[in-house]
Amino acid sequence: MKIAIDLDDVSFNIIEPLVQYHNKIHGTSYTVDMFTKYSLEEVWGGTREDALREIHDFYKTPEFRDIKPVLDAPEIIKELAKEHKLYAVTSRTQTVKHITCYQICKHLPGCIERVYHTNNFSREHVGIPKSDIFYEIGADIVIEDCLDHVMHIPDINIIIHDRPWNRVELPKNMHRAKTWKDIPGIVKKVA
Ligand SMILES: [Mg+2]
Repeated sequence: MKIAIDLDDVSFNIIEPLVQYHNKIHGTSYTVDMFTKYSLEEVWGGTREDALREIHDFYKTPEFRDIKPVLDAPEIIKELAKEHKLYAVTSRTQTVKHITCYQICKHLPGCIERVYHTNNFSREHVGIPKSDIFYEIGADIVIEDCLDHVMHIPDINIIIHDRPWNRVELPKNMHRAKTWKDIPGIVKKVA
């Protein structure tokens, strides 16, 4: 099967270092559990433009370069790659292509067929919908944390990686994975 896997907050833990970065700069004390909305600005205030600027500033830090994989993700992705074709589909912009490549090579070596950047966090370009890429790949399964990217594709099996911003009742084609350890079982079930 073909499986499209998101990077941030699915394969790599970005929200925690990003919130720490925000707290350090603004003297705030947000915690990850406070982000019950996907858009950062709805929680920490300011405009979308401010949030994008901050994300792009964060992209330049060692904390971003050295983000850690989500618990158990590398081991389970390695196992899935033995049986399935895996693709990374990320909202990140092309501008962080090289760092993304470094992170994937370091933590998921040889597991990912191809990396797609949809530029949804771009300030200069209009991003393309992730679903366009899912259909282009012919993905049988998508592993995502952001409901906005997958709500309108009822014909693809979706695994939602549980995060504070996606805790709503899910439609029939979606399966919630509390942790990566739940994912192989869900993949087998929908295969
Ligand atoms: Mg994500």
